[in-house]
Amino acid sequence: MPAQDVDVVVVGMGPGGEHVATRLAGAGLDVVGVEARLLGGECPYYACVPTKMMVRAGDVLAEARRVDGLAGAAQASPDFAPVATRIRREATDDWDDGVAVRRFADAGGRFVRGRGRITAPGEVTVSTSDGDQVFRARRAIVLNPGTEPTAPPIDGLADTPYWTNRDAVAAERAPGSLLVLGAGPVGCEFAQVFARFGSRVTVIEVKERLLAGEEPEASEILTKAFEAEGITVRAGVQVRRFDHDGAGGGFTATLESGEELSAQRLLVAAGRRTDLAALGVGALGLDENARTLDVDERMRLAPGVWAVGDVTGRGAFTHVSMYQARIAAADILASGGDGGDGGDGGDGGGGGGDAGAGDGEGERADYRAVPRVTFTDPEVASVGMTEAQARERGLTVRTGSTDLSASARGWIHRAGTGLVKVVEDAERGVLVGATVVGPYGGEVLGALAVAVHGEVPTERLRRMIYAYPTFHRAVESALDDLHARG
Ligand SMILES: Cc1cc2nc3c(=O)[nH]c(=O)nc-3n(C[C@H](O)[C@H](O)[C@H](O)COP(=O)(O)OP(=O)(O)OC[C@H]3O[C@@H](n4cnc5c(N)ncnc54)[C@H](O)[C@@H]3O)c2cc1C
Repeated sequence: MPAQDVDVVVVGMGPGGEHVATRLAGAGLDVVGVEARLLGGECPYYACVPTKMMVRAGDVLAEARRVDGLAGAAQASPDFAPVATRIRREATDDWDDGVAVRRFADAGGRFVRGRGRITAPGEVTVSTSDGDQVFRARRAIVLNPGTEPTAPPIDGLADTPYWTNRDAVAAERAPGSLLVLGAGPVGCEFAQVFARFGSRVTVIEVKERLLAGEEPEASEILTKAFEAEGITVRAGVQVRRFDHDGAGGGFTATLESGEELSAQRLLVAAGRRTDLAALGVGALGLDENARTLDVDERMRLAPGVWAVGDVTGRGAFTHVSMYQARIAAADILASGGDGGDGGDGGDGGGGGGDAGAGDGEGERADYRAVPRVTFTDPEVASVGMTEAQARERGLTVRTGSTDLSASARGWIHRAGTGLVKVVEDAERGVLVGATVVGPYGGEVLGALAVAVHGEVPTERLRRMIYAYPTFHRAVESALDDLHARG
């Protein structure tokens, strides 16, 4: 088949790729969207959406267990079947992207199912079930390959039928027992969900604590909440090897100490990566062995090439991918038909560099206020820098914190535990980070994300009115604590 000339080729149609492709097609460009699996990417089919359906179901069970002493008596009998059905029918359409494909076509895009690879500057070759198709992009190539789950190089692990997030969201029932390797957001969310549906769960983490990227206070609260629910937390331990007994004996993790931990299932949530060699970035002169694609503030990777999403290493979140997509789409539209180097001063060398000095007023990415939410109970939500990160940056740091459960709303709610912690750049008198742990922590975080993003002076935040009795009112107490520390 001869090469086809188009305006834009988007390789990988995760949330960011789909957004860029749809926006550009809607603007009248001839856009080809290439996707090897499902249009929409990890988020709707294997990640955010189905896992939050699981979390919602687990939360309902936990609430039912709180009826005693608050509202009478209730007996909840966990049954995973409605969760599995809802994921299959409502969230993923049985892992079928027909609706998304039609939506993209309706927006004017052309969808090609296959694996894309850059084969020369401006050229993408797509391996499809009908053979290769070659596209030459007049205006832009956009890379949104996301990441694939990987397993750490632990002896025996690769030979076992372990679960990744993709298997866990497709589970028809909760396993009797589960080992979760990795206590980042993904591992923690799954651990609590399955525990609430009756699995005996053990979380294994090589770092010293759960959610090691978050404030230590948040990890401590979550660890206690997990243990109170019967989840075993083994942090700061190294697994020497994994074994699987094919005769139904399940999985065994042998720790460095010699101790053995066993369960019916093993979920590995300990890392993700992108195969940049398979994506063909070598054809652009970029390092195929790198972990991420180093884009500039307009998502430019190389002349005529943009990248968005997890692969850029700026936060593996759907909201980051879509934020970057908006910026990339605007930049591509602003770039005109000149081959996509931004119209004037693209750095020409690939791999980022200056974000296009002197080339207009378009939006540039700003990652100071990236919000993060782990949807456990209590939710762990944060924005910007932790205290440790702020200190590592050499800032003069002042912090304030409060026990969210001691607030009027926390007490009424019987939250039992919680935290609001704020991190101030004391020299500028503005917040550079904040953490909320508690019911609806992600919602409470909204106000703090505005404060960090808008660099609202903390003295001004202390003079605003916080509704009574809300959870977000605890922000005022945290700010009072900050102020009291002088
Ligand atoms: C279990 C889990 C829960 C999560 N929960 C949340 C959450 O609650 N909130 C949140 O913000 N984030 C969450 N995330 C992260 C979120 O899923 C990702 O950040 C999000 O999907 C954005 O990724 P992306 O746009 O980079 O691409 P992805 O969604 O990873 O999609 C990339 C797509 O590109 C395709 N692709 C790759 N290479 C090629 C190629 N060469 N040719 C063609 N197609 C290709 C892949 O098949 C894939 O479909 C979660 C992640 C996991 C694993």
